[in-house]
Formats: sequence, C-alpha cells, structure tokens
Amino acid sequence: MQLTDDIAYLKGVGPSRAKVLASEADIHTLADLLDYLPFRYVDRSVITTVATLREEDTFVVLKGVVANMQTTASGPRRERLTVDFYDGSGTMQLVWFAGTKWVREKLKLGVEYLVMGNPSVFNGQWQISHPEIEPYSYVDEGARHPLMPVYTTTEKMKQNGLGTKSMARLTETLLDNLPSLSENLPADILAHFRLMGRNEALRVIHYPDSREQLDQARTRLKFEELFFLQLDYQYARQQRVTRSEGRIFAHVGDHFNNFYREKIPFPLTGAQKRVIKEMREDMRSGRQMNRLLQGDVGSGKTLVALMSMLLALDNGCQACLMAPTEILATQHYQTFLRMLDGLNIHVELLIGSLKASEKRRIKRQLAEGEIEILIGTHALIENDVVFRDLGLVVIDEQHRFGVEQRSKLWNKSVVPPHILVMTATPIPRTLAMTLYGDLDCSVIDELPPGRHPVRTFHRTEPRRPLLFSFLKKQIDAGRQVYFVYPLVHESEKLDLRDLYAGFDMVTGYFPRPEYQVSIVHGQLTAEEKAFEMDRFKRGITHIMVATTVIEVGVDVPNATVMVIENAERFGLSQLHQLRGRVGRGAEQSYCILMTKDHLSFTSQERIRTMCSTTDGFEIAEADLRLRGPGDIQGLQQSGALDLRVASIVDDEPLVRATRDTVHDLLAADPTLSRYPLLQQHITNSKNKMLWGKIS
Ligand code: ADP
Ligand code: MG
Repeated sequence: MQLTDDIAYLKGVGPSRAKVLASEADIHTLADLLDYLPFRYVDRSVITTVATLREEDTFVVLKGVVANMQTTASGPRRERLTVDFYDGSGTMQLVWFAGTKWVREKLKLGVEYLVMGNPSVFNGQWQISHPEIEPYSYVDEGARHPLMPVYTTTEKMKQNGLGTKSMARLTETLLDNLPSLSENLPADILAHFRLMGRNEALRVIHYPDSREQLDQARTRLKFEELFFLQLDYQYARQQRVTRSEGRIFAHVGDHFNNFYREKIPFPLTGAQKRVIKEMREDMRSGRQMNRLLQGDVGSGKTLVALMSMLLALDNGCQACLMAPTEILATQHYQTFLRMLDGLNIHVELLIGSLKASEKRRIKRQLAEGEIEILIGTHALIENDVVFRDLGLVVIDEQHRFGVEQRSKLWNKSVVPPHILVMTATPIPRTLAMTLYGDLDCSVIDELPPGRHPVRTFHRTEPRRPLLFSFLKKQIDAGRQVYFVYPLVHESEKLDLRDLYAGFDMVTGYFPRPEYQVSIVHGQLTAEEKAFEMDRFKRGITHIMVATTVIEVGVDVPNATVMVIENAERFGLSQLHQLRGRVGRGAEQSYCILMTKDHLSFTSQERIRTMCSTTDGFEIAEADLRLRGPGDIQGLQQSGALDLRVASIVDDEPLVRATRDTVHDLLAADPTLSRYPLLQQHITNSKNKMLWGKIS
C-alpha cells in the first residue's frame, strides 16, 4: 500500500463510498485519509449520566438505550424525529431535523448506544440535537484505545456508512497496513526539540494511548506544519534577496543633508533614526529593498518615508508615494510642499480628479525626469504613467493595495525600484512572523516626545448632555472636535440619513453662527470634500461630522476630541485608526466611544481594550484573539490561515521556535545541501505553486 493510492481500494471503502469521501471530506487518496485528523477524542472513562448534565457542558458522552421514536412534521418536507434516551439515571431526548428516515431505520430498540453531543435544555427537558450515536460495542472494540477518535462527518457521510466509528475503522485499517511512514524533519532538529517521530505522531494522533502521548503527537505535527510554512516563506525571501538586483544608493547628498540640517525643527526619535539606518543599509546593498514599516499613527512614519525619498533623489532617481484616497494623497502632497519648502525639489500630485490637461503635463514632465517626487492614488499605477528613472516607491497603508497592484509598480523601471510599505495598522507579532517572512519589517515603537496618550472613555446615551457640555468647553478653549458615524447599512442612503440626523443633533447643540459644523461623506465630490476638510483644517469650522472617510491620515493637530457614534459597530483596528486622528498636538486629547446600553461579549471586549490601551500592537493582538486570523484585513489569501493543526493565535512559542530554526538553518546552509529532505520539500512546493498558478 502506498499513500498515493486511491482511497477506493482501501478495505471497507469501494467506489461509491470513495465518491462520498471525495465530495464531502475532500479525501481522495490514502494520504488524505491519514491527514483527516480527529477533532476530538472520547475518553471511555468519562461517560456522564443524564442526571448530572450541566448547562455549561459543551460535549458529553452518555451510555444508554433508545425508545419511543416519534416523527412530527412541522411543514412540508420539514420532519423532526425525537427519540427518548434512558441511561438509568434519567431520560432525555435526541432530536434530528434532517436524515430522519435513515436514523429511524438504523436505531434499534434494546441495543446499548453511546451518544455524544452538546446537551441543551429545551422546554424544560435535556436534549441533544444531531448527536453522534454508535452501538456501545464500539467501545469494546476500541478497548485497546482508551481515547477514541471522533471525526467530522456530514449527514451524507453517515448515511453512507461513514460515521465517526467507520472513519475510525478505516483509519485503523490504514494504519495497520501502512508501512512505516518516512520522516520529513531533519534528525538534528528532531533531537534538539525532542520531537516525536512522524510515523509515531501520525499513528498516535488517530489512536492515542494517553493524553500525554496525544499532546506530544500534536506538538510534533504543529511543529512540522509551522516549520514548512516558515521554510517556504523564508526560502522565497532568500531567493529574492540573493537573486534580485537592486539599485545602489551609495551616497547621501545635498537633498538629504539640507533637509536634515535645516528643515526638521525637532530631533528624530531613536526609533526613527534606527529605521532610517535600516533602510539606508538596504538601499545600498545592491539588493532590492522590500520593507514593511509599522508604526502607530503619529509616530513619524511619513517623515521617515520622506527622508528615504530624498536619498533616492540624491542618487539621481525619482521617487513616488501612493496613498489609498485622494484626501490622503492631497494631504501628503501639502505636507511635502511645506516640509520641502525652499529646497528646490519638484513635487507633484497626480489624482483622478485633475483636469486632463494637467494630467498630461504631469505625465510629460515625469517621463522627462523633471518631476522628482510624485504623490498620488491608484492613478500612479496606470500604464501611461511613465517615469524616467523610478528608484523608490513608498506605499501608505498597504492593506488597501493588493499584491498585484504593488507588483505593477515594480515594472515601471528596468531594475525594480526599492519598495517601502507603511502601515499604521500593526500586524500582530505572530502573524508578522509567519506572513511577512518575505518582507523585512521595521517598527517605529516610540512616539515623539511631549505627546500625551489619548484618554478614552465609554459613554451611553443618558450621558450625552454631559458629553456636549464637555465638548463646549473644549471648543470654547479653541479646540476642534470630530463626530464619526459608521457605515452600516447596505444602502448608502440609509447611512447618509443617520449621518444627517447626527449632523442635525450636533448643530442643535452648537448653533450657528457661533459654532460652525462641517460634514464630509463618501457621496460628496472630491472638491466638496476638499473644501470642507480645508475649512476644518484652517479652524473655520469647529466640528467635523463625518463617516469613516476620515479614517486614514487626516491631520489636524488642533482637534482634540474624537466622538465615535455607535462605536460597537466598528472593529478594533478601525477604532484605533479613528482615535489616531486626535492626540497629534501638544494638548491632551480624548476619544469618546458612544454605544447603546447592551453590548455583546465581543463588543464589550473591544470597548474595554480601547479604553485600557493605546498601544497598537496590543490592540492588534486583542483583535486577533477576538476575531481569529480569518477576519484580519488583507490576510485572507495567506497560507497562515490554512493551518491544519497549529494555530497562529495559540501557538506563538512554536511559531517563534520554527521561525528561528529555519532562519539559522538557512543562514548556515543557504542551499540546504546538508538537508536533502528539505530540498525535496522545496522542489515539491515549487511544483505545487506552479500548478496553483495554472489552474
Ligand atoms: P505618521 O505618518 O506615523 O502618522 P507623521 O510622520 O505624520 O506620523 O508625524 C506626525 C506628526 O509628528 C507630524 O506633525 C510630524 O511633523 C511630527 N513628528 C514626526 N517626527 C517627530 C519627532 N521626532 N519629534 C517631534 N515631532 C515629530
Ligand atoms: Mg501619517
């Protein structure tokens, strides 16, 4: 028998069950069956009784007999089967809503059954709906295995004789007949981490003798999974680093030096200096830089980016900065003009709303090399935007740009430009470790001196009058205020209605002409938005009522209060982004989270996290815990989410260990010449990737 053999040939399967296994569980070969891991184990020694069930039980095992099967119809084709179940201590009901005919035929009176499932109370009586149910004899057969595996099975599998018991039997047959499975981890690593061998681990994971043994098998399989994920990422990165050619920015010239000496009115923070040094080293190494720059809002990333662009200019190249929205691009442009004032550097802004003649002029001057720094939105990646010699690309807020869009920029120059990606949405450490194996990371983990962390409070409707009098004091003291409303409805019209209702409420408390209120939302034209933003920026309006269009990058240091309405409807990272709009100046700033009274558990946790910390990394970790990696923006296509045994959230120590192990291994032996097993893996995964691209 070989692992690549068709599952149909395993004793007990045959062609029709093979079809079901393929369609329901994606099991096609023996190897697939071996990889179909139990999601739980039933410990024979912990059979519960009906009399001792508790509300908080989520999974129980009971032993008893069935009686009194009843089918009731709750509508056409909506049958419900209830069966009484006795175990000597009491009675409960087993309920099925689907596949009732088959269950009715299968269950026999007087036979002792083992019933497994999640108990709940319904109409004052204990019940389990869609339990796993097997004749008790299974336990006797399983006597040599105290922990019996439970596999995920669908109704269709059960109806085709592929319930958990049958799956366990198939696996057992497979394991009994399979020759010893070959090891795929190097011997020195196995020894160093005292890992169980692969052959033993795969057998134990299906049929463990004890919890301890099971834990060891799990650890081994998790290690293996994370190790190969790391190997794929880190090997790919090594290839990029050694193969790809990069421009060499060898010297620091007038642009950089003049700016540094004359234009920065404050000393750089230690973190800023460190990051600039890291980038300089990248950019003169002869390799292409591909760096991710993380740092909370206001930590000074933009300044660092600007300085790296000046280095590009000093080495005869052009540089560009791409932002996700026109507002943000325009703001960067204004910041750059202000900061570079008097240095004789030609900066332009390219956005979709420019006049056609302006766009033509910019493109012409860009191709001729007259424009040195170009700032813009997606408009930058269009094919007719041609640079004379593009040396550095800075991308702000990378989650909004896909990998494909990024790679379009690469092709704008013969030797690919250096890439710097900035994000204020910190990526949890464990994720960064796995996902950005192919990017170098820099972190600005220090705020410029003199900043007070934003103070955050949670309030509900009854305290709104107090909130408004607080706002009045702030505004009378010369400060400005944001009100943000979430986009929640399917229809923008409804969202706008909420927003305008909010606007009316705010103008009710803060009447003209004494107070001026701006409103900004996605339905306005770029000009209208810019007009309102500008009025707020210049302090003509005191309050800005807006949707999340202001989420990214709006910079008004005089704004000290951020009121977030319906805050329970925002995700953590969005709340964090919004809060980053205040606390940019010298004054103490505040963030007020307005919510309804009763909150779900996760909403409460989000609000609690926001009130207790301003550290972006802590917030990102909490977000990951609350939502799981699947919902983190921009990570959907990554392999880190397809993990079978390991978990990015719970297995941080193993993520760390495998990352370091792979790192050391590749450093000592870049071609893996001493590790034929790993070379084999690389060859195989290359083929896989190729196939992935073709299909
Ligand atoms: P980010 O891009 O990380 O949000 P910015 O670069 O926009 O941060 O900086 C936020 C504000 O802090 C800007 O007004 C900037 O001039 C100022 N700033 C940046 N670095 C420093 C520093 N080292 N000391 C004081 N202020 C700084
Ligand atoms: Mg910024």
